[in-house]
Amino acid sequence: MEVATSVNHFQSIADKHSNKVSMESIGNAEGEGLFKIVISKWQRQRQQNGRTPRMRAVIASGVHGNEPISNVALANVIEAVIKRDDLLEKFEFVTYPLVNLYGLKQGIRRTRDCKDLNRSFQDGEWTAISRILSKSIQEERQFSFGLDLHGSGKQGIFIIKNQKDDDGLAFSALAKIDHSDLQKSNNDTYPGKCGGYTMLSPGEAISRNQGTLKSFFAKCGIPYCYTFEYPKVQSLEKQVTLMTDLVLAYFNASDRHFFH
Ligand SMILES: [Zn+2]
Repeated sequence: MEVATSVNHFQSIADKHSNKVSMESIGNAEGEGLFKIVISKWQRQRQQNGRTPRMRAVIASGVHGNEPISNVALANVIEAVIKRDDLLEKFEFVTYPLVNLYGLKQGIRRTRDCKDLNRSFQDGEWTAISRILSKSIQEERQFSFGLDLHGSGKQGIFIIKNQKDDDGLAFSALAKIDHSDLQKSNNDTYPGKCGGYTMLSPGEAISRNQGTLKSFFAKCGIPYCYTFEYPKVQSLEKQVTLMTDLVLAYFNASDRHFFH
């Protein structure tokens, strides 16, 4: 499969909306570039007087090269929030698309060096990509939300939380998705098992896997950290729609929770 969404696609979004979006290179690894895209109403003021919105989110996609739809969904989310002046009053988004670009081009999960990037954010496992990404995230600092977008082989979409209590934000976002599209536990009772995960409710899983980008978000002190997993077995259209809708529902839920 081709890279579902390319560097050029993200660049064209940034160029078209240069008053709210900026894209820059943060380095090169494995012969490919790594990029940061900031969506902010405060873009111009950012450097001028340090004025910032009240909450900031970091969102990454394409950590696994065989989960290309995560990038398509992120591009959709960026284009959607550009139009949402109400959200941009309160939130600023720092995004890292196409993280494992070599893997995406090859359609393989791992990096060129055959590393699982989503286990590499820990001592002894760091890779060129995870070092560059983690440095950039640490330089940006002070995020309230960390989302890492992935795809899984399961039937339904789900959110993996870092801790049980997230003020009901994941639960509220999942409530906006058709119940039949949510991943269930094995016997549809809760809490219940589903593979290696504990499901707290339909679509709401918990995991403390080490070395994931989500675990790195938590180490950086980000209070709300997640891995979002779209269902790769569904039609491409459904994968894109579900993931885009769920991420937007998450920020709508956060908006309601913190500002109303
Ligand atoms: Zn993944």
